[in-house]
Amino acid sequence: PERALSPAETGDDDRFDRLFRPASLAEYVGQAKHTENLKVFVEAARRRREPLDHMLFCGPPGLGKTTLAHIIAREMGVALHVTSGPAIEHKGALAGLLTKLERNDVLFIDEIHRLTPAVEESLYPAIESFNIDIMTGDGPYATTIQLALKPFTLVGATTRTGLLTAPLLSRFGHVVRLDFYPVEELERIVQRSAGLLDVPIDAGGAREIAARARGTPRVANRLLRRVRDFAEVLGDGAITMEIARKTAERLEIDAAGLDEMDRRLLRVIVDHYDGGPVGIDTLAAALSEPRDTIEDVYEPFLLQQGFVGRTPRGRVATRRAYEHLGIAAPAAKQG
Ligand code: ADP
Repeated sequence: PERALSPAETGDDDRFDRLFRPASLAEYVGQAKHTENLKVFVEAARRRREPLDHMLFCGPPGLGKTTLAHIIAREMGVALHVTSGPAIEHKGALAGLLTKLERNDVLFIDEIHRLTPAVEESLYPAIESFNIDIMTGDGPYATTIQLALKPFTLVGATTRTGLLTAPLLSRFGHVVRLDFYPVEELERIVQRSAGLLDVPIDAGGAREIAARARGTPRVANRLLRRVRDFAEVLGDGAITMEIARKTAERLEIDAAGLDEMDRRLLRVIVDHYDGGPVGIDTLAAALSEPRDTIEDVYEPFLLQQGFVGRTPRGRVATRRAYEHLGIAAPAAKQG
């Protein structure tokens, strides 16, 4: 089912992602610790006229991994080539991509943990020594020739570093772990996006949207678009706290930013498994959602906000979850 607040990308987002995408590190809101380091790496690489070190961006969907890749290529003054793990079906496809790269270009592989083992293996020499083995000929005449590539930067993106094989992970010179954004930073993102949409918004409206955006810029931008719809149809077009609240109520997004799906997840743990622990596969079956979706999309925010806890035997609902659902916690779980 389509979630109003799903941080995963939908077709509609694609267009808006591009509209809202900041073009420089200076415009990229928040994550200061990372952007300041990246500024230094870019400057140093530019001075040496070398490619940036290979980098891995990791974190839940919608936090700005793709955006950062675009920005660093732009700041390096090189081209960005965008692809994804599942899109590179075989070694030949990888070779095709790599041989197109110009000196110091950035190759961005989203969902890099989903490369096939064969493709991943042929990526190693490419990123280590800018070489690739290419098969030529057939049958008894088949030989491999080694082809030199122009130096380039691989930027990989993944939701969790734990999904990568150790050999791939170890080949990245720098790992950037993106965190959920605090409300103040999301407010700035909402204000900025409203400006790009040319829609008037007051401080209360921006704050209300930011507070319900699950720490995620893409969610904030999507909620902003829905609030804009309500503001245009039910109001005078301006976004206020009131309109933002009304929209959130209609979409069943509560004050903590949780939606129907999040509450269902908490309810399953509380109602069906007595607060847990419940294994992730059991949870996935009960919710009829793929396990990966739960782990990558729904759960990180619930964990970060302390609604759900993780134990070796599975997920547990915390006291905060009980409070949020308005259910008395069993005595053992209180405190
Ligand atoms: P990811 O690749 O992590 O799934 P994206 O880079 O596609 O996320 O970002 C999703 C949307 O959120 C884009 O429209 C982008 O403009 C916006 N966004 C993400 N991070 C920021 C940021 N730090 N400042 C401003 N906008 C951001």
